[in-house]
Amino acid sequence: MTDTPLRAAIVPVTAIEQNCTLIWCTATMKAAVVDPGGDLPLILSAIEQAGVTVEKILLTHGHIDHAGEAKPLAEQLGVPIEGPHEDDRFWLARLDEDGRNWGIRGVVFEPDRWLADGDTVMVGDLTLDVYHTPGHTAGHVIFHHAPSRFAQVGDVLFQGSVGRTDLPQGNHKQLLESIVAKLWPLGDDTAFIPGHGKPSTFAHERAHNMFVSDRALSA
Ligand SMILES: [Zn+2]
Ligand SMILES: [Zn+2]
Repeated sequence: MTDTPLRAAIVPVTAIEQNCTLIWCTATMKAAVVDPGGDLPLILSAIEQAGVTVEKILLTHGHIDHAGEAKPLAEQLGVPIEGPHEDDRFWLARLDEDGRNWGIRGVVFEPDRWLADGDTVMVGDLTLDVYHTPGHTAGHVIFHHAPSRFAQVGDVLFQGSVGRTDLPQGNHKQLLESIVAKLWPLGDDTAFIPGHGKPSTFAHERAHNMFVSDRALSA
């Protein structure tokens, strides 16, 4: 990503080590916070360290570790929340209840903008494409910046694994279909930041991931 105007910094948040990510446009130094699940002081210090101005919050899906403190951060920064897809409305409506169960602060809200497949979101001068990728949750979306070969995939795909599908409205078959139909066409050289764990590339996962490698899927 060295020759492109996109930069990303991961801020692990909550006890579940969720990869909240600050994405910014180096031409304008405008930024988006993706998935501010909690630990707002850590996120605010990352914003200060990067020297960027946050203009929006983006959400991949409605789980507590990704969306728990989106509303208070949006209010503090005076910015809108975009995403996830409307099919995750019920997850956002139970953030307070899930927060109590997980010991994470959860604040119920509705985003300023629901996202759908084919939408785009702007961060400074950057245009990110939105793909609807149901399976882990029904309303999960991913963000892709084509010029940087970069994707933020939330809990769809991890280095060596895929998102869990045992929670309400999860669907393993649909998750695999989302990965094959929406992620792989973006190109093997796509680098991605997952919702948990280390970044990887689609090429690496197609070669080694025990759930979605080319070999596993053809078996
Ligand atoms: Zn999740
Ligand atoms: Zn997660």
